[in-house]
Formats: sequence, C-alpha cells, structure tokens
Amino acid sequence: MAQCTEYIAILTLAEAACYMRPDIDKYAEGKLYCPRCQEIWEEIEEVDIVIGDRSCLRKRVPFNFLSGCLIPVVHDSFLSCFPEHEVRKNLFLGRVYSEKGELMSEWHTARGKHRLILRGTKNASYRICEICRRPVYFSNWGFFLYPPPPPEISIFTSGAKFIARTDVVDLDLLRKMRKLHFVKLPVVDSPLDSLGDIEGEYVPPENPSWSVSDFVVSSE
Ligand SMILES: [Zn+2]
Repeated sequence: MAQCTEYIAILTLAEAACYMRPDIDKYAEGKLYCPRCQEIWEEIEEVDIVIGDRSCLRKRVPFNFLSGCLIPVVHDSFLSCFPEHEVRKNLFLGRVYSEKGELMSEWHTARGKHRLILRGTKNASYRICEICRRPVYFSNWGFFLYPPPPPEISIFTSGAKFIARTDVVDLDLLRKMRKLHFVKLPVVDSPLDSLGDIEGEYVPPENPSWSVSDFVVSSE
C-alpha cells in the first residue's frame, strides 16, 4: 500500500497562552532556549516546565502552548487523537508542573522529534537569528509544506503547531475539541512564499541541558 502523504496542521485557538513561572523563565533563558530568538535548542528533548498560573490550562481546551519558546502544552485527551505508538515514536513528552511545583499529570509539553518550518503565503518573511544562526520564519496563513517532508514520519511540530499525516489522526475526535483548528496542507515542489530554500547554520550552545527538578515538589 502506498504511504499516505496527506497532511494537516493543527493550531490552537486558546485565548490565553501559558507562561513559565518568572523565576524559571529567567533560569531557562539560554539554558532551554536561545536568548535572542527564544527557539528551544535543537539538542533538548523532553521539556519539563513549571507554569505561572495553572488556571490557563483547562481540560475543555486540550491544546494550548507556552508563550515565548512556543512549545505545545496538551492534555491527555488531545494526545488520544493519535495512536499511542505514533505519539511515542514522534514526540518527546515533558512534564508540566503547577506554579506550586506540583505535577499536573494529565498535561504534557510535546516537542516533535522531527521539526520543520511550516511555511505560508500570507505575510511571510524570515531572518537568521544573530546568536543561534537558525532561521526565524513568520507567516500567519496560507500554510503549505515545502520541501515535501519525509513520508515515513507521521507527526512533526513547528513551534506551537502540529503537522500530522492524516492517516494517524482521528479527525472525528479532533473535530469535537474546542479552541483548535486544523487545515489541510498542500505539499509543493516549489515554495509559494517566494522565499526560496531556507536554511540556517545552527550554532549550538556549549552545554545544552534542561531540568526543573530543583523547582518542583517531587520528581519521580
Ligand atoms: Zn536564536
């Protein structure tokens, strides 16, 4: 059977993003993400976070994101739209702690093991970050995939968005979820935003590592 190569982007419409507790955010700058563009270092896998206010995470809005470094923050019910083995294969799941440092076990950060730039036709632009030399891309609509992603990978992330092959998503379940939007993505052979090929030359930090264990009540 031919591999499915249809994709969707899944975006959160949550009105209030989560934010890191300010002392952790101060600690995270440079350790977790680039201090200039706020993109998480490429070497970081699971991202555990301590949020500033647990009330920004409500079960009925199962997909939110962390402001600043733009990592998705998802509830178990959102992850249940994908087969469990696809989640394990494609996503690094991190722990989410409340402002008091208590584990919120139904919530996770989700970082794609494979990440890509989700390009778009509307207001598209990019620059190269002065510190980490990665492209910082912006477009707010008309999304498409270029270059065509490797077909064997079923779930990617792009900042706070998911890109998923449609054969691994339960679209009926996804449709029932509040405050999210999904859109089909054309896969194109030449970019529709007139920006050509976009590549940076990543300069990694000296010792990339991330842990919040000193800030939480208990960590198993
Ligand atoms: Zn940077």
